[in-house]
Amino acid sequence: MTPALGKVRSPPVMSRTNYLKGYAPEIVKQVEELVASNRLADLLRSRYSENHQLRTDKALYNYAMELKNSYLRRAGPISKVIYDDKISLKHHALGLHTFVSRPQGRKTKAKNEIRISSLLKFVPEAMLRAVVVHELAHLREKAHNKAFYKLCCHMESDYHQHEFDLRLYLTLVDSGDELHGRR
Ligand SMILES: [Zn+2]
Repeated sequence: MTPALGKVRSPPVMSRTNYLKGYAPEIVKQVEELVASNRLADLLRSRYSENHQLRTDKALYNYAMELKNSYLRRAGPISKVIYDDKISLKHHALGLHTFVSRPQGRKTKAKNEIRISSLLKFVPEAMLRAVVVHELAHLREKAHNKAFYKLCCHMESDYHQHEFDLRLYLTLVDSGDELHGRR
């Protein structure tokens, strides 16, 4: 028998929740429903009324240093905090912390550098803060262990909520929608 035309199934919709790997299936399902019914943007707008205005590397550096000086005064110095166009938000890399040792004359100079994806220039401040806090916590803890997340929550008590909301935001952008645009 030839299959009836019109009964051909369309291919499954690509999962738009790549950023929610590791979260409980019921949460992922709720988010997919919010995306499908175009309600995710409104939900996020009700929580975050505007984007931050830290658009330059200098502003970003000062912002990160203020957090470091408040919570991680004795951690190693940071030589650089910059926005980086080359950091892709896929693969969970929202920011990067690098520890480089460079020979300088007879001494070796150790440098901590923090790079933040340029895509985070246009997000609510709380979402940027979650990523900066994450990278700062790596000054002390290299691994994503219990001590690491404890440190993140010490710097920002709502760390987990804001990180989750950032993932919702990325899911929203992936679906072709936007939050506050490039404002
Ligand atoms: Zn990390």
